[in-house]
Amino acid sequence: MPQDRADVLVIGSGAAGAAVAKRLSDYGARVVCLEQGDWVEPTSYASTRPDWEVQLKRGPWNFNPNIRRLPEDYPVTAGGKHPPEVLMFNAVGGSTIHWTGHFPRFRPSDFRVRTLDGVADDWPISYEDLEPYYDANDLEMGISGLAGDPGNPPRRERPTPPLPLGVLGEKMGRAFDKLGWHWWVADQGIISRAHDGRPGCTLHGKCMFGCPIGAKASTDVTYWPKALQKGAVLKTRARVREILVDDAGRARGALYYDRDGRLHEELARVVVICCNGIGTPRLLLNSKSALFPQGLANSSGLVGKNFMLHPFRMIEGVFDERIDGWYGPFGVPSYSQQFYETDLKRGFVRGYTFQIERSFGPLHQAWGGFAGKPAPWGRGHHRAMKRRFGHVIRLTLLGEDLPDENNRVELDPDVSDGNGIAAARVIYSYSDNSLRMHEHARRRATEALKVAGAFEILDSGVIQPAFHLLGTARMGDDSRRSVVNRWHQTHDVKNLFIVDGSSFVTSAGVNPTSTIGALALRAADGIWERRREWQ
Ligand SMILES: Cc1cc2nc3c(=O)[nH]c(=O)nc-3n(C[C@H](O)[C@H](O)[C@H](O)COP(=O)(O)OP(=O)(O)OC[C@H]3O[C@@H](n4cnc5c(N)ncnc54)[C@H](O)[C@@H]3O)c2cc1C
Ligand code: SF4
Repeated sequence: MPQDRADVLVIGSGAAGAAVAKRLSDYGARVVCLEQGDWVEPTSYASTRPDWEVQLKRGPWNFNPNIRRLPEDYPVTAGGKHPPEVLMFNAVGGSTIHWTGHFPRFRPSDFRVRTLDGVADDWPISYEDLEPYYDANDLEMGISGLAGDPGNPPRRERPTPPLPLGVLGEKMGRAFDKLGWHWWVADQGIISRAHDGRPGCTLHGKCMFGCPIGAKASTDVTYWPKALQKGAVLKTRARVREILVDDAGRARGALYYDRDGRLHEELARVVVICCNGIGTPRLLLNSKSALFPQGLANSSGLVGKNFMLHPFRMIEGVFDERIDGWYGPFGVPSYSQQFYETDLKRGFVRGYTFQIERSFGPLHQAWGGFAGKPAPWGRGHHRAMKRRFGHVIRLTLLGEDLPDENNRVELDPDVSDGNGIAAARVIYSYSDNSLRMHEHARRRATEALKVAGAFEILDSGVIQPAFHLLGTARMGDDSRRSVVNRWHQTHDVKNLFIVDGSSFVTSAGVNPTSTIGALALRAADGIWERRREWQ
């Protein structure tokens, strides 16, 4: 065995890659991770600058890689009836640098939608299989919250107590109580007290522009320092062009470009791809060879297919009294899952979560807020700003998207990244089911905001931001209908694993990252248990 061959090569250092690398390093595996982005210095975060909103809109902090256009970004083009706006970040920590930190779990029913509702497919694993890994990931990431939600299975006391609900959480709680709807305090990947060497949140409210003190659980401050301490090697500005395979069809490593555009080989006994629901199928489709002419691990033809985001819509209420929604973590203080499980009387299958959310700053409001209604410039500007800024509560629909093979990630033959590697193109159309869900949520959110006292309702309409990137290398027992098995091992290449949102069978009606982290820890255990099969 060559000395410089790693045991495990992890590609991508975001939510999934960090968890896999840390877990396997703990067990004693020799782990190397290749990440196309760099470490980001907290002092460079937009959140530390007075022009943070301008940085977001126009500068290098935009959520959209097509606008940022940093050397480590790759373009993502879009098509379909509802072309998505893809949002992601490419750095150590991946998209968790930008993320809000909302940390819900799937419900048990989410793993059994075929059995319960006759749609899509059941997962080959259950909530109970994942539960210990959810618990372990909560501790590693650092969570605040409150155990006891009657709508979800019991869970242990949260590592730190809940963050304040704020005026908006309290107001909506009272409105939901009046309506008799479910609601509970949200789990957040933001610690309210010191935990595991990191300080508690100081409520300054710019989490999506990078948390300067490390209270938000981005994996550059959670998993990575510990993985490195255990001996993991993290190579940054290392963009993988393709996975290498030997004559027997086993993965033998990866070919990557360094920051100066030089090509290198990284060899390993096992390869784990964690490049997210777009980066992963892109890499597999770019890894064509004589043995795998349709792309790697693609004998089912399903690599890139069944792309899911989440039906997403923001409905805001404007209130006379001050809400000061910009105060405190942007993420979700509380949520309602009143409409989560299927009730066919509503006109759609499956369901959604309502998230109560805070606001950005004054410029965002002046530019139009989430409803796209700019404050007039000149005459009337101050009146409009006084009326809206700090007076808004937002209810966000986050619904279950069902898999559809027509929604897909493919290679764009006309566009490439800075190293000449074909870009990804995402084709997406909302289903009629999702559009009916949208309309239901619009009506119900309006009702709840009015009960809370809103005098005006603003609506983003049907939008499709894609920051939950799911389903493009789905998990299953049947190799004709899935790309990976229940241990994330590809059906076609036995020492190749895919561990990120790509492996999701269905999307559930909640944010995915807590589930991505739990799956990553479980996959790492599976890889370690089968280490005798490594060659
Ligand atoms: C603005 C925003 C807000 C969000 N808020 C929430 C939230 O509140 N709750 C929630 O659950 N989720 C949220 N998310 C989603 C969450 O960030 C993702 O689900 C999560 O980060 C996905 O983890 P991942 O490891 O699969 O991918 P990522 O975190 O995206 O990491 C993938 C990594 O792979 C690297 N990579 C890709 N291709 C290559 C290549 N060829 N070579 C080398 N490296 C490569 C990338 O550079 C990147 O660092 C949010 C996302 C955004 C953008
Ligand atoms: S509100 Fe808390 S988590 Fe968010 S950026 Fe500020 S300190 Fe970090």
